[in-house]
Formats: sequence, structure tokens, C-alpha cells
Amino acid sequence: MVEEFAFDNTEERRKIRQNGENGWIEVIVGSMFSGKSEELIRRLRRAQIARQKVQVFKPKIDDRYSIEQIASHSGMTHVSKPVMTAAEMMAQMEPDTQIVGIDEGQFFDMAIIEAVNELANSGKRVIIAGLDQDYLGRPFEPMPQLLAVAEFITKTHAICVKCGNTANYSQRTSDSKERVEVGAHDKYEARCRKCFVPHADAPTII
Ligand SMILES: [Zn+2]
Repeated sequence: MVEEFAFDNTEERRKIRQNGENGWIEVIVGSMFSGKSEELIRRLRRAQIARQKVQVFKPKIDDRYSIEQIASHSGMTHVSKPVMTAAEMMAQMEPDTQIVGIDEGQFFDMAIIEAVNELANSGKRVIIAGLDQDYLGRPFEPMPQLLAVAEFITKTHAICVKCGNTANYSQRTSDSKERVEVGAHDKYEARCRKCFVPHADAPTII
């Protein structure tokens, strides 16, 4: 049931032809453990199978897994270039690139919005994955702005570890008040609206 929510739109239903003139923006958002990176990697792989030129970027702040890769929690990986800012990403952009993949979009500076618009305007297909909310449940900039400018939006969901309902929140389970606290199962778990609390909470014992 969750998979139906996650994968029911965009790519397969899309009728825009990419011919070097038509670019667009796709945004994949959701909580942690909802399969955002996995869905991004799936789309990038399909593009590569079609022999399209792909470049992938991620912000340097995220040092989980290998630094030259984007990775899903389930173990899928794809090569990527770590960059500090949107400007650094643009400086590394090659003119014949057709597909631009960006993971952990929530860690980019606000200049990413103008950058992805510029890329799409120049005919590239841009696919960005990121967290839509922080650990307090607040919209996580620049993802709300990216959702606004995107042609296609996919919202992925996890499963609440407490009750099994569809989860839309990243529950922090470590004691930190920093907005950016990089971690995985050691610091977060997926929760639904009913089970989420907007502060650090003890991890669910299963
Ligand atoms: Zn729940």
C-alpha cells in the first residue's frame, strides 16, 4: 500500500520529450527511511541504460556511507560528486550533461533554487531528492521552494515503527537540538502523525 503512494506518478506517465530543448525539474521528498535515495538512484539508472549523460551531486555535509557515492539505506549506490554549495555544483556542470541528480537537497543553500531552474531552462532533466521536514516537523528549506518550482513531485513514505501506519515524519531519537544531525537508525526512526513528537524521544523497542 505504501509503495502505491510512493511510485504512482511522474516518470511513467510523463509525456514530455527531452530533446535538448525541453528540460524540467522532478523533486522526490519524504521522511527518512521512505526510499527517496532509492527512487532517485532507480531513475538515474534508467537514464544511464538509455545512454543519457548523467551527473550526480550531493552536499559535502553528509558523510554517511562513501563520500563519492549517494546511497540508499537499503544499500543501492550511485557515484556522485560532493560539493559545498550550489555555485560549486554549477561550476562542475558539463554542457553535454542531460540528467542532473541531486541527493540530500535539504542541505543545499538557497541558491540551489535558481541553479536548478537554470539547468532545466537549458534543457536538462533535474532530479532532486531530499527531506521535506526537519526533526521538529518544520518544512526544511530549500525543499519547499524546490517543490514549488518543480514540474513533477513524488512524495515517498516510510512505515511507522510504533504502529505500522504510513509514516510522514523523521522522529529524532538522539538528544540533540541541532537542526542538522546526520545519522540513520542510530538517531532517527520513521513515525506517523499520531506517534510523532516534535522533540527527541526514546527509540521504540521492538
Ligand atoms: Zn504510528
